[in-house]
Amino acid sequence: MTVAVRVAPSPTGRLHVGNIRTALINWLFARRHGGTFLLRIDDTDEERSTRAYEEAIEQDLAWLGLSWDRFARQSDRLRHYAEAAQKLMAQGRLYPCYETPEELELKRKMQLARKLSPVYDRAALRLSLEEKRRYESAGRLPHYRFLLSERPVEWQDLVRGTVRFEPGHLSDPVLMRADGRPLYTLASVVDDLELGISHVIRGEDHVANTASHIEIFAALGGEPAALAFAHLPLLTDASGAGFSKRLGSLSVGDLRASGVEPMALNSLLAKLGTSDTIEPRHSLDELVAEFDISHFSRSTPKFDLDELTRLNARLLHSTPFEAVAGRLEALGLRGVDRGFWQAVRGNLSRLDDAAIWWRVVHGELAPLIEDAEFARQAAALLPSEPWDRGTWAAWTEHLKQATRRNGKALFHPLRLALTGRERGPELAALLPLIGRARALARLNGEAA
Ligand code: GLU
Repeated sequence: MTVAVRVAPSPTGRLHVGNIRTALINWLFARRHGGTFLLRIDDTDEERSTRAYEEAIEQDLAWLGLSWDRFARQSDRLRHYAEAAQKLMAQGRLYPCYETPEELELKRKMQLARKLSPVYDRAALRLSLEEKRRYESAGRLPHYRFLLSERPVEWQDLVRGTVRFEPGHLSDPVLMRADGRPLYTLASVVDDLELGISHVIRGEDHVANTASHIEIFAALGGEPAALAFAHLPLLTDASGAGFSKRLGSLSVGDLRASGVEPMALNSLLAKLGTSDTIEPRHSLDELVAEFDISHFSRSTPKFDLDELTRLNARLLHSTPFEAVAGRLEALGLRGVDRGFWQAVRGNLSRLDDAAIWWRVVHGELAPLIEDAEFARQAAALLPSEPWDRGTWAAWTEHLKQATRRNGKALFHPLRLALTGRERGPELAALLPLIGRARALARLNGEAA
């Protein structure tokens, strides 16, 4: 079987953590099985969809490295949905309904009050021709529902195992609005069928849709056995209390702006919800090699922003210079080299903080002198150049003997004088980068 998957975001906002996870898992599945990954823009909601969001979605996926092999936009395929609707109508599976939203809401309330499940009662099926005509001459245009069968629907979900819906538990889904525009359910099934999708991998909020999906798919001539489904449990926040509003709206743009590396996000989201250990991975290829859809369980995965932050730092700490050289240059670190990166990377929680250490090494800063006498002694004992990684140990050993200071009393004032900061990368690595002239000036209390 040729694997073909799709990610189908609606361009009504930026991608958020949940959509990215779905996109990533689909992408990994495609790559793992030598299949194709389709980006489908679900823009049947004309009021809320925009081209600007569509472009942002494309940029976000590209930033994550999730390249697509195929592209489709639902608003370009309206003709296909109209044809499918005709086909269903000809089979008597699509029927006109005239209820207003208010009438439907009233029915729902009455069913709930009688402790019945709020399933559409198919009243429209019992309308006579005369009644329909009366509605239409009064200006009411019908919307159209798909007539579900009286048979149970069952499938083997790749995450949930056997899922079964008994007849009578679902409302006949509305496939077409009164103005003739298709709804997501119709468009989605038509696309999955016509674009040859083999696996639909999406959030478990779509489980009930899938029962209808399978029936519509079959009614349009699809072979249900050719379409597999996997429904992933939705993420919750760290407390497990449902996805908080804050996280629910956490977009790729926000994460990117807060310094999150795409591979940190990918490394986390590829494993959340599995029992695999979450480790920083530098390439999507590594995640592809480790990916197995059967590792996803039905238990609810927690998305913890602190975990992402820690993973981001760990990723940076092991990132090779070649992987970031261009980005460091773009941050204004002109002439940046491996030595600098090796010295500072272990101290970064986000890449752009490298610029802070670049200024410490190459820029001017106001030193913090705690004890002028000690600083003077330290300056006097500075070894002559050339300096290397051993210089720091030799110098501080000398200074220790001369001043009888040790531990924090010895090192902390030197750090403050040389870097103007309380904490930072190992001074053994920084000192040779700072160089003798600048170190001397800073120990003398001069801005340098
Ligand atoms: N546009 C739908 C959504 O964002 C796609 C769901 C699906 O994968 O079919 O929920």
